[in-house]
Amino acid sequence: MTVGVLALQGDFREHMAMVRALGADAVEVRTPGELESIDALIIPGGESTTIGRLATAWGMMDPLRERIEAGMPTLGTCAGLIFLAAGAVGSDQPQLGVLDVVVARNAFGRQVDSFEADLDVSGLDRPFHAVFIRAPWIEKTGADVEVLASIPDAEGREHAVLVRQGAIVAAAFHPELTDDDRIHRLALGLGEGG
Ligand code: GLN
Repeated sequence: MTVGVLALQGDFREHMAMVRALGADAVEVRTPGELESIDALIIPGGESTTIGRLATAWGMMDPLRERIEAGMPTLGTCAGLIFLAAGAVGSDQPQLGVLDVVVARNAFGRQVDSFEADLDVSGLDRPFHAVFIRAPWIEKTGADVEVLASIPDAEGREHAVLVRQGAIVAAAFHPELTDDDRIHRLALGLGEGG
């Protein structure tokens, strides 16, 4: 199995390392041609406006949409979630729109730029230690979107931070920055999430 990691910007190297540790091949993807030879895709964290701008410049928007809509297993983390989404509150940045959610960027506020939390994830038998960095949360989910984990804000309101829609799994946090590979396995079909 060959997993392509969108390598336009962001922490794609950490994802490549995680994929290789799982025993799959990892390749950097920047062009439509490179997209053709992969079995699964990861869109990393970083800066979603930059990823969107570069993907547009490299002619990647429609090829990415086509492969993902055809059912290729896809994992998006943080900026990758934002890039997959149908909308972002108050922003008109380029987005793929293949994941029926609206996100709020940098949603946890400036005073909590980064934080970590143990998340209960539906389908996993013990909590996942999640690293959030200037993270979005999911503001709205469509009917086909399953919420796998959520987290309360300062007022105690729950917000989805891990979702699945068909073969797409998207996280507001960074599983690639831990040594816990369960979200990658869940998303890429590399064995049971455990
Ligand atoms: N705040 C970034 C954005 O809006 C995402 C941060 C991240 O990927 N860690 O794109």
